[in-house]
Amino acid sequence: MRLPAVFLVALVLPLAACNKPAQEPAKPGEPTVAQASEQHEEAAMSSHDPNSYAEPEKVVITHVALDLNVDFAKKVLAGSNTVDLDWKDPAATTLVLDTRDLDIAKVEGFDAGAWTPLKFELADKDKIYGSKLTITLPKQMAKVKITYASRPEASGLQWLTPAMTLGKKTPFMFSQSEAIHARSWVPLQDTPGVRFTYEAHITTPKDVMALMSADNDPKAERDGDYSFKMPQPIPSYLLAISAGDLVFAPVGERAGVWAEPAMAPKAAKEFEDTEKMITTAESLYGPYRWGRYDILVLPPSFPYGGMENPRLTFATPTVIAGDKSLVSLIAHELAHSWSGNLVTNSSWKDMWLNEGFTSYVESRITEAVYGRELADMEAVIEQHGLIEDMKQIPEKWQKLAQDPLVGVDPDDASSQVSYIKGKWFLSFLEERYGRETFDAFLRKWFDSHAFTSQDSAEFERFLRAELIDKNPGKTTHEEIHEWMHGAGLPKTAKPATSTRLDAVDEARTHWLAGHMKPSDIDTSAWMTQEWVRFIEGLPQTLTEAQLAELDAAWHFTGTANVEIAQRWYPLTVRSNYLAARPAIESYLIHIGRRKLIMPTYGALVATPDGKAFAEKVFAKAKPGYHPITIASVEAAIAAGNAKPL
Ligand SMILES: [Zn+2]
Repeated sequence: MRLPAVFLVALVLPLAACNKPAQEPAKPGEPTVAQASEQHEEAAMSSHDPNSYAEPEKVVITHVALDLNVDFAKKVLAGSNTVDLDWKDPAATTLVLDTRDLDIAKVEGFDAGAWTPLKFELADKDKIYGSKLTITLPKQMAKVKITYASRPEASGLQWLTPAMTLGKKTPFMFSQSEAIHARSWVPLQDTPGVRFTYEAHITTPKDVMALMSADNDPKAERDGDYSFKMPQPIPSYLLAISAGDLVFAPVGERAGVWAEPAMAPKAAKEFEDTEKMITTAESLYGPYRWGRYDILVLPPSFPYGGMENPRLTFATPTVIAGDKSLVSLIAHELAHSWSGNLVTNSSWKDMWLNEGFTSYVESRITEAVYGRELADMEAVIEQHGLIEDMKQIPEKWQKLAQDPLVGVDPDDASSQVSYIKGKWFLSFLEERYGRETFDAFLRKWFDSHAFTSQDSAEFERFLRAELIDKNPGKTTHEEIHEWMHGAGLPKTAKPATSTRLDAVDEARTHWLAGHMKPSDIDTSAWMTQEWVRFIEGLPQTLTEAQLAELDAAWHFTGTANVEIAQRWYPLTVRSNYLAARPAIESYLIHIGRRKLIMPTYGALVATPDGKAFAEKVFAKAKPGYHPITIASVEAAIAAGNAKPL
């Protein structure tokens, strides 16, 4: 169901819907009605999304039509964006768009069957939010076309030379628009509070395949000329493009994998349970509403694990472990088809509505497809990570419902709090209300808010009306308030438990006490999560002999399992175990996923010798890193530590 646009705006801008003050003469010193209403407008504006210059209370983009050429030699996308406009304020004649590092050639308006040039002004660049583009119209027009080009340094695009790909023959490019990077390749209202449908005409060199977060045809001819349609309204951060030597491998009726030819069969095997995951999620939360669900496997430089671009999840190849132990990433990105893509946080302060809900739904899919034991192990490891990270996260960002992120880069405010504390809250509700009641409640949240953008206040209202009031006596107001608005962990946060991980803890304790050798521990059936737990429970530092003993038994140094490497290498750095340095260098050069490499950089930059090594390795790795990863590593080197992601 798609709600009428006017309803969307009313939901996005709750203050704008307030009653205006009654007309009465102003007392001396008090604002007049006009002034009061102006202040009211300002309050309404600041109430939506401080991370965007757009003014959706005046005019809203309802459709985007891109016509872009992918120029690998220049590393730019060049062409035009034509936006359909829905004017909300009868007096408004300016359109404000978000841009960052875009060269704007011209702006035209469509009226009476013809395009006419429009005046525009590009403001100086703000370090966080980019350049505000103000377009002045002689009157309200239905369409505006912006002719522009991105720049090679676009924060939301990465350009890879053929040498940086698996096949070594064809260049590769991809976008990462979340949180506020769409503005670096498309001028638009870059806020999750605005949704639009889109279409695109993309041209590339003839031997390159282009894909978007839209209707990719598995049988599309590779000819350098592609057209896309996304009929469901999406927020700007879900706009996505990729181009390279990409082939398709089916994994089910509705699902498939796009990857470089050498990677496609391996990826299709690893992700063969995708169709099962879709039907599991549908049985819990209602129909999958996006048509196909395909997975694009990106090069190892992708800075994230996955990105839930609708119809086409972008995924890191680092989760292809060969034993499906890391495919909960796909469960996570698929879960976003309900939480995030269907019901979206209306600004980034409420990111937990996307990520906490998704982490919860992910665990339900994992449990149904792979069993409770795996879901429990993951919960224990995630909670441990959250508690560790929270030691470094400022109190103001430990809340689920955050204050407006004024003057803040939403990427900086994002942490495991929105993911894992959010999931923990929903698990708490599930426990108190019972699975059956809670599942029905969650499904209703998705159904009744489908294709809209929402904030924490609306969730709190819905929670009260649909769960708490209908099932009295299960939770108190104070408990809910503490979860949503308190820093740290609430008193009612019950830790997850796993008997398999308890056994790992016991084995580690015996080894540390010298009662057991590694060979005495039966690891034959251990999954990635058990190895992770073993390493995470070790002391901050070990002796060289201890590290060498573990290496001799289990070959952690040089491991192909990135979840093990992510934890093992920082331990070796803290312990000054230099034998691991060559493997660390190779690892940091070949992988650009931030979660996997930032802990090692963080450990290295804490000492002068480690920092010198980190700088040397970074110089070699940088040409292959994504702009987002480069920014994180540079910040860590400058600060002498890495902030939690
Ligand atoms: Zn997510």
